[in-house]
Amino acid sequence: MDEQKLASEGLDHLKALVSFDTSNPPGNELPAARYLEKVLRAEGFDPVVIESAPQRGNVVARLSGDGTEQPLLLMSHLDVVPVDAERWDFPPFAAQENDGYLYGRGTLDMKQMTAMSLMALLTLKRKKIPLKRDVIFAAVADEEAGGKYGAGYMVEHHPDLIQAEYALSELGGFMMDVRGKHFYTVQVAERGLAWCRVKFQGDAGHGSIPDPQSAISKMVRALQRLEKKGLPHRCTDVVRDFVEVISHGQKTRVRATLKALLKPMTSRMAMGRLEEEQARFFNALLHSTATATVIHAGEEPNVIPSQAEVVLDGRVLPGQSWEEFEADLKKVLGKEAEIELIRWMDPLVYSADTPLFDVIRRVVVDREPVAQVVPYLLTAYTDAKHLDKLGIVTYGFSPMKNDPQEKITKLIHGHNERIGIQAFSWGQEVLAEVVERFCSVSSASGVVDSLMDELLDSPPIVQSKDKTNPDGLAAGNFSGEQEDI
Ligand SMILES: [Zn+2]
Repeated sequence: MDEQKLASEGLDHLKALVSFDTSNPPGNELPAARYLEKVLRAEGFDPVVIESAPQRGNVVARLSGDGTEQPLLLMSHLDVVPVDAERWDFPPFAAQENDGYLYGRGTLDMKQMTAMSLMALLTLKRKKIPLKRDVIFAAVADEEAGGKYGAGYMVEHHPDLIQAEYALSELGGFMMDVRGKHFYTVQVAERGLAWCRVKFQGDAGHGSIPDPQSAISKMVRALQRLEKKGLPHRCTDVVRDFVEVISHGQKTRVRATLKALLKPMTSRMAMGRLEEEQARFFNALLHSTATATVIHAGEEPNVIPSQAEVVLDGRVLPGQSWEEFEADLKKVLGKEAEIELIRWMDPLVYSADTPLFDVIRRVVVDREPVAQVVPYLLTAYTDAKHLDKLGIVTYGFSPMKNDPQEKITKLIHGHNERIGIQAFSWGQEVLAEVVERFCSVSSASGVVDSLMDELLDSPPIVQSKDKTNPDGLAAGNFSGEQEDI
């Protein structure tokens, strides 16, 4: 099939999807879901549209295999975060092309994956390739608000429609540059969520006489300690694997800095050598974190209140339980901090030692022989948290050959979100090939795969042993001008 034609067909679908304003709230994903339904039906599929609430649309379609293996789910969300249109160079829902880029909300998060997944499904069907497993296409609502009307709804009410062995979804698959070496991320883990409310008590009093033991004073000091000290350093297997792969082939000095990041004693010193953005990124990979996001205390200018409270957005590394996180937090905030959990979600970790990861690695390296594929921990969370309830191994892999100098993480949820048109076409081809090679009857056996592995000069992929539970992002550029890395 003509690659050029497929690329422009995929781009047309992406433009159409971007043009539906699916800002969440309120979402209004139904028209976009109906659009996909129409495209799929015209190609001979039997898509299902589930309305989880008025105007909240989820669309699912299936291409059947012979059932020898369990299905692969291509999972994307149709909602986007709201826009501040005034600050965009182009209208955010006009899907405008400019200088090799397509501008629009959702071009990176994550309507591009919806369009690529759709094209993967359509091309497989058109090519009439016999499959050993079903390929399921799902484009759902409400991810940006937690997934209640999207992935969460589907898992609870229609698990049979999306049940699969593996899923491919968002936030991995971008290209990262570390000192001139290129890496494609596959997100295999997410940090967990631990939102909590922390209260401090003190004596009420007159505002004219300062009291260092007031509730507000105690809270301020506790938050200063949290800011300064942070929570304990923890090196998880997935982060160790990530650093090992990106260190491969780097100069001794860069390798030493990367290695030093992993050790509690030297981590802080090593972070000092990084650019600020890189340091923040590694800090979130190597620590559970708690960020103050809401504060309440006092009513009147002249009354010292007896209580102050702060809401912390806690994010938990794989391997850590709420009890452990709470104990760490208590040590920093002090004995007087009364900590109450508001919402918890387990961190997630999946092994990178799977046939799907191998296929991804092979497909990427076939096209980019100098690039490497690296397992990756997401600092935030995605719909994978819902899919995990069905035992689905979810990788974040929405492939894209982006310009590594471009700060993708700032464009996602930011102004002027855009995708390079070539970068998108590359991703479309890669995803289609991954799906075909992983699902087709004629794909290589495990034996051939492992022989191929020995022939490929690839860095060691140490497998994660974490048996745990994570949220965020951080593809980007590590090729700054600072002294190291
Ligand atoms: Zn997203």
